[in-house]
Amino acid sequence: MSGPRIAIGGFMHETNTFAPSMAGFEAFIEGGGWPTLSEGPALISATRNVNMGICGFVETAEAQGWDLVPILWCAASPSAHVTEDAFERIARRIVEGVRAAGRLDGVYLDLHGAMVAEHVDDGEGELLERVREVIGPDLPLVASLDLHANVTRRMVDMADALIAYRTYPHVDMAETGRRSALYMERLLSGRRDAKAFRQVPFLIPIAWQCTGMEPGRSLYARLPALEERGIASASLLMGFPAADFADCGPSVLAYATSREGADQAADELLEAVIEQETAFSGDVFSPMEGVLRAMELAERASRPIVIADTQDNPGAGGNSDTTGMLRALVEAGAKRAAIGVIVDPEAAARAHEAGVGARLRLPLGGKSAIAGDAPFEAEYVVESLSDGRLTASGPYYGGARMQLGPSTCLRVGDVRIVVASRKAQMADQAMYRFVGIEPREQAILINKSSVHFRADFEPIAEAIIVCAAPGPMPADPAALPFTKLRQGVRLSPNGPVFG
Ligand SMILES: [Zn+2]
Repeated sequence: MSGPRIAIGGFMHETNTFAPSMAGFEAFIEGGGWPTLSEGPALISATRNVNMGICGFVETAEAQGWDLVPILWCAASPSAHVTEDAFERIARRIVEGVRAAGRLDGVYLDLHGAMVAEHVDDGEGELLERVREVIGPDLPLVASLDLHANVTRRMVDMADALIAYRTYPHVDMAETGRRSALYMERLLSGRRDAKAFRQVPFLIPIAWQCTGMEPGRSLYARLPALEERGIASASLLMGFPAADFADCGPSVLAYATSREGADQAADELLEAVIEQETAFSGDVFSPMEGVLRAMELAERASRPIVIADTQDNPGAGGNSDTTGMLRALVEAGAKRAAIGVIVDPEAAARAHEAGVGARLRLPLGGKSAIAGDAPFEAEYVVESLSDGRLTASGPYYGGARMQLGPSTCLRVGDVRIVVASRKAQMADQAMYRFVGIEPREQAILINKSSVHFRADFEPIAEAIIVCAAPGPMPADPAALPFTKLRQGVRLSPNGPVFG
């Protein structure tokens, strides 16, 4: 007798509705640093041994002898809206795949939870509802979510359980997939839990959502504690504060055998988050202030000072090509400094034509029409060339095999720049080494990332500084021109009220 028959798939996108470029179908084919779009049995090999929800789910399911029916999995780099074309093509393939699978015992989806499509604000709610229509009200449907999910009532209603990451940097993505499989097992044994969902009344800037620092650390420690007390599953979602729709923002979820148990756990968590409102804050420096401070600290440090170029984080929808931090490094005369990744396929192509050792005058980066940003024109030395293939083996990417396209290390003065043709968030030391830069030997490293870089760079960093150069993801969400949030929500902790 074979085990339960479970359809699996995934469709992941984090949408910054204010970002410069949308995600079309091609962006999902390519994957943006994640595995490329894969269907059928290839899905399982493409996502094996990578730190992702689907990978952990498959590991547990295989160990339990479940009969998996892989449908389709894809992800794209965070950006502006998913195009209507891409959403409909991918959603249709998943829904039709589930329909064609025949008799099933359950469905698992690896989702992000903050997807906005051109024509649908609640991307995951829409997808879950379409899947639910096919499988009927009783078949188990579980989805794992990113910690940045903007959860909606429709998502909660359509899925038997939504189970979210508990770390930012997200080092537990595969672990969340394993927890989702354990919850699926609970559903397969016939149990159904009461659900409780609460929305937090303020947005939290992503730089202060880190779970390695307070207040995140203590808040997240409450989740396993609740489960030890008998709650079947508890999640705290920090939300992604750059999606202009009513359900943008943090939330909590609890699943328990009794309605009272679920409500009590959710209220307790919500209250704990609200109590910490003021603590979600920290220092943010201008580019020049940050660079000068880093240079001063570097004089007495044996390890790199790491700066987060938070407002152009491609993990939040940036194009990873703004030049504000590069300009500050060069103007301040910084020594032994490196910055990455600046995405500029034209500059990379010119470096490949010119060859190692060549000197090139070119306008680098700054091509996303961001207010206050511009290409940085200078004479650069081509220090190395790469085809852009690398394995990111640090704790965040966890072995992801990247293809960043033609890449190069350009140098201006004593500043080295990782230039690539495709974007991926600088969150792994390997993303410097593949063009010959040894991150440990630099005095200053500037990473186009908000928090994920901490997983692989904190161990080598003397200090970490957050800087705000002009970019599409404001360090303070209150700076975004929101028009569709729900009435009364605060745009940042203790910040202005929307509406
Ligand atoms: Zn996330």
